[in-house]
Amino acid sequence: MDTICLPAGEESLKQAAALLRAGQVVAFPTETVYGLGADALNGEAVRAIFAAKERPADNPLIVHVAERSQLDGLCRVTDTAETLMDAFWPGPLTLLLMKTDKVPSVTTAGLPSVAVRCPSHPVAHALLKECGIPLDEVASVGIATPGTANSDTGVVEYSNNIPFFRFPIADVFKSFLPVKQVLIENDANAAALAEALSGAAKGTKKSVMITLGTGVGGGIVIDGKVYSGFNHAAGELGHTVIEKGGRPCSCGRRGCWEAYSSATGLINMTREKVNECKIKGIPSLMVDEFDANGRVSARTAFSAMKQGDAVGTEVVREYIEYLACGLTNMINVFQPEVLSIGGGICNEGDTLLKPLLEIIKTEQYTRKSPDKCAVKIAELGNDAGIIGAAGLGL
Ligand SMILES: [Zn+2]
Repeated sequence: MDTICLPAGEESLKQAAALLRAGQVVAFPTETVYGLGADALNGEAVRAIFAAKERPADNPLIVHVAERSQLDGLCRVTDTAETLMDAFWPGPLTLLLMKTDKVPSVTTAGLPSVAVRCPSHPVAHALLKECGIPLDEVASVGIATPGTANSDTGVVEYSNNIPFFRFPIADVFKSFLPVKQVLIENDANAAALAEALSGAAKGTKKSVMITLGTGVGGGIVIDGKVYSGFNHAAGELGHTVIEKGGRPCSCGRRGCWEAYSSATGLINMTREKVNECKIKGIPSLMVDEFDANGRVSARTAFSAMKQGDAVGTEVVREYIEYLACGLTNMINVFQPEVLSIGGGICNEGDTLLKPLLEIIKTEQYTRKSPDKCAVKIAELGNDAGIIGAAGLGL
């Protein structure tokens, strides 16, 4: 599978349609699909919408809401949902799932209703029209979602980022998309699949991808398929302990790899070093940045190091040592042909990769073998999850 990036516009649509007609996979970004726990303020109003749509109230419902204000009075929106809506609002499609006798509270996380924003797929529809393919002949629609995604049932068993609990996301999509099948996969797994299909691990049979973001995500691909264990919860590579009793992790354990090697981990390490420098009166460019902006970022230590700052260099060295430790563990467990690393921190390129490879080279179990795992920077960036979702039906 080759990846071509097409700019937005009419000409691109024609090119994409030609690719699709030729049997290629076409992936395109839609908006983030998210769920929001919402207390239905006005059950009558929600029921009236169901009635107006001539749908039974125990079915998922698509409500076309053109403006944010139309949700006022309908449901109470949490602060997190408010932030997400501010960022992603422009679309017209919202879906409300009412808790009724037939929709158990486990589906709605115990809330009276759950709303899910869905993209309206204008580009998808335009593309299909251009190709002359009716919607019901589309082989599959893929969804990459946070959380434990049961690819057999299409249910998101649990997600702590989005309030999904046993949420039947594939059925919800099928209710308004008459396609042959709707497939789901965890977003980190989908990204790993994308790198295996058309990115850094293209052409390999066994690969692993690690995403360094808010957390440390992982995905394992064997013979073109995601390995997710018997219960679809495998691949949580960031939740392996590399420091017993170490930093607390969002999963409840202490010392997880994620707590050290995620962007959040790097920011925490940087902030702690800045505090230490302030107490001890040690000068550092990182302290200057904190004093000027009131905050530090995942770039702070790398940027200070590049300007010769000793404290920044120390933070980067420690960060890379922890990252190398975790990556070496993954190589020793899986021995993938390619282990790719994605996430914003990878923009550091060789500044990150070179010292990382030096450590891995001397620590991996196969250091004396001619057959060694190749560690590479992932190639598909933020589009990996989208491309992987499109590739689920292959
Ligand atoms: Zn953890």
